[in-house]
Amino acid sequence: MMRSISIFGATGSIGESTFDLIVRAGGADVFRTVALTGCGNITRLAEMARTLRAEIAVTADPGRLFDLRAALVGSGIEAAAGPDAIAEAADRPADWTMSAIVGAAGLVPSLRALRHGRTLALANKEGLVTAGSLLLASAKVHSATILPVDSEHSAVFQALMGEDTATVERVIITASGGPFRDWPLERLKVATVAEAKVHPNWSMGNRISIDSASMFNKALELIETREYFGFDPDMIEAVVHPQSIVHALVGFRDGAMMAHLGPPDMRHAIGFALNFPDRAALPVARLDLVQLGSLTFQEPDSKRFPALRLAREVMQIRGLSGAAFNAAKEIALDLFMAGRIGFLDMACLVEKTLSHLSSEINLGNDASNLEDVLEMDHLARQRAGELASGKITNR
Ligand code: NDP
Ligand code: MG
Repeated sequence: MMRSISIFGATGSIGESTFDLIVRAGGADVFRTVALTGCGNITRLAEMARTLRAEIAVTADPGRLFDLRAALVGSGIEAAAGPDAIAEAADRPADWTMSAIVGAAGLVPSLRALRHGRTLALANKEGLVTAGSLLLASAKVHSATILPVDSEHSAVFQALMGEDTATVERVIITASGGPFRDWPLERLKVATVAEAKVHPNWSMGNRISIDSASMFNKALELIETREYFGFDPDMIEAVVHPQSIVHALVGFRDGAMMAHLGPPDMRHAIGFALNFPDRAALPVARLDLVQLGSLTFQEPDSKRFPALRLAREVMQIRGLSGAAFNAAKEIALDLFMAGRIGFLDMACLVEKTLSHLSSEINLGNDASNLEDVLEMDHLARQRAGELASGKITNR
């Protein structure tokens, strides 16, 4: 029987890389594509759906249903629109599902896909930060497998293969440091969206690229490491590694460290998740160590990048704090992208939001119920918006 797949967030950077691997592996002749989803890029979504002969194509934007139908006319491919339609597309069983929607919007489709007890390739780190325990519990209940697709987490996963996790002493994820790695605080204050969008090593969606510049991406990834692998927060570190060749290292109690190296190409981690437990040949560049010459590592600076310090707090508190942190971060990022707040204001706003929320509610409260998590996500967005517009002041 043909292996069935779905891609949530097909039109994005991860979605495109996933599509590329699927097409190279034989496309519609080898895979039965159930659902492909996108949001604003209707032309590309329809094109991908036609190429893979998908059962259904869904846009998250309810206002684009007409356009999607028009783009799919004569193909026999179903069209649907809106967040509920995306969740319903996840109710259609697929052997392998890529979760690559950006933001907390990826959480519900991930949870729904897990119900089929198959494999979820998880790129959507915001879902794991927002409701890690819920995702992991759901995978357990339904005997589903979650494979991490974030490059650092795929690297940790691979370094742990065949190892006893009880012998692990430390986990180190690397950060390129982004375009502002060496910028002084004064210059960071006036950093623009255009400057923040340009990542030195990776080609990614705009939001994660800006999160890399502020190191909010690494902050999310520290929490992601905590949630996915379950190690204590003080075992987890982030190290700046400007070349982005070593993605993560795992240190064991005998002093040995297992490092994962690879070119900065997400098709590596996606291909690993697509072929797991096999290691199939992948169309990624091979490393030339001699040409690279040296790999360097530096201490991250949590003064210039306060997101890292905030992540530490969330890793300790857990519960609903991840949902609050991520939602506040999404609002702060929206405001920065809209030119309404400065680059450094993003971390200030997230910190203020967390401190305001913690005076209203215990952020450590249990996060095993989806309604509670979504309510916190909503509340944190509301508070962050109010704090940014000066409707409430921080005490
Ligand atoms: P992109 O912005 O490139 O793509 C996001 C995808 O989600 C697009 O298909 C987009 O549709 C769709 N989308 C946007 N908003 C919504 C919404 N509200 N509801 C449903 N779908 C929506 O993001 P990336 O591919 O860069 O990142 C995707 C996820 O993977 C993120 O969680 C990111 O953190 C993670 N990740 C990404 C990496 C990378 O290299 N890019 C590396 C590691 C993790 P459309 O484009 O049609 O509007
Ligand atoms: Mg990453």
